[in-house]
Amino acid sequence: MELSAFEVVKKQIDVVSEEMGLDPNLTKYLKRVERALIVTIPIKMDDGSLEIFEGYRVHHSTVRGPGKGGIRYSPEVNLDEVKALATWMTWKCSLLNLPLGGAKGGVCVDPRKLNKNELERLTRRYTSEIINIIGPDIDIPAPDVNTNAQVMAWIMDTYSMNKGRSVPGVVTGKPIEIGGSVGREPATGMGLYFVLEAMCEKLNLEMNSHTIVIQGFGNVGGTIADLLYKEGCKVMAVSDISGGLYYFEGLEIDKLLEWTKEGNDLKDYKDERYELITNDELLSIECNVLIPAALENQITRKNANSIKCEIILEGANGPVTPEADKILFDKGIHVVPDILANGGGVCVSYFEYVQDIRAYFWELDRINKELKKIILSAFEEVYKVSRERNISLRTAAYIIAVSRIAKAIEWRGIFP
Ligand code: NAD
Repeated sequence: MELSAFEVVKKQIDVVSEEMGLDPNLTKYLKRVERALIVTIPIKMDDGSLEIFEGYRVHHSTVRGPGKGGIRYSPEVNLDEVKALATWMTWKCSLLNLPLGGAKGGVCVDPRKLNKNELERLTRRYTSEIINIIGPDIDIPAPDVNTNAQVMAWIMDTYSMNKGRSVPGVVTGKPIEIGGSVGREPATGMGLYFVLEAMCEKLNLEMNSHTIVIQGFGNVGGTIADLLYKEGCKVMAVSDISGGLYYFEGLEIDKLLEWTKEGNDLKDYKDERYELITNDELLSIECNVLIPAALENQITRKNANSIKCEIILEGANGPVTPEADKILFDKGIHVVPDILANGGGVCVSYFEYVQDIRAYFWELDRINKELKKIILSAFEEVYKVSRERNISLRTAAYIIAVSRIAKAIEWRGIFP
């Protein structure tokens, strides 16, 4: 039996606690979330029927600042998964040294089965149900799987209508016209790019001669595919929920992005040179860099041995399980962990939040420079600890992140 996402989280906390000799009381505390809200979302569908959906918003830790984390729409979302994702956000914000805590939300729905009006009603009702635990000083949601700038705009509007004034700082990842930030949409992909560049420098590898395989072709996977394609890398395979495409000589990413941006599935793309593959097959293609950018628990003890790459760059949150991590470490594969690699999104979300609060907006050049500075400083710190202790990049990243949280809890003390 594979572990659930939150069981994976608890295992990761155990590994790092042992490595850093953490107080067992703190280990116990960190394995719990601060609060978890489950809500019922009844929606009148356009055909007159009533559908009921379940939604969640979880705060893992707000010890270093308001909660921060995306909202996911997916038929597979459940409370366990949202708890795991909220915990990973705590570590990510801490590792990047942002004054924010960890949160996450989700609605158990297949958004492909709802039209735009139904999706808007779902989003507005979900927002109303969680309204008391979100806000610029409490918890600031953002986009995640199957949510985007439009969904954030509906959340911002619903929250603002209830408060009687515009509150742009309640969410990030908004459209620019209502307080969004330039550079937010591609930020996670940009961050992945900066981190990969730094990792290649450490390993003395030429970035533009790489062969790349990417699982997931949405915001994160699509952006990094585009950046690496433009850099001259051979992106040999990409996939979405419908399946994957493979071409040894490298796919034409610009054309595939046009295709999927029109709402089409990758499996329906016609090019006789391309081979249709499954998401499982994609993961075992031999390449330099494998980028899982879809969902968690994709590389497990079952398929870890068949992975043939030098670097795994975690675009998704939690794509590699702890058992797989061990196998990959022993095989000498460098896994650049999610909380570092995909931190670009939350970093620019933080910039958006700061800009909203100040009502003063930055230019793209400043956004990208500050993003690069923050993410590379975290990368250097993680790399150094991993070398000094001869531990994986993940354990090193966790040691840094958990130490900051532990220190914050120590300063604040346990109430009452
Ligand atoms: P997205 O909805 O834009 O894209 C998700 C992609 O994954 C799509 O191509 C989808 O078809 C594919 N997919 C979904 N279910 C799949 C399945 N079962 N098998 C294979 N492919 C599947 O989402 P995104 O924002 O790109 O997020 C992707 C991952 O990156 C998630 O793990 C998310 O938590 C993480 N992440 C996102 C951000 C961000 O800023 N958007 C930041 C950090 C981490």
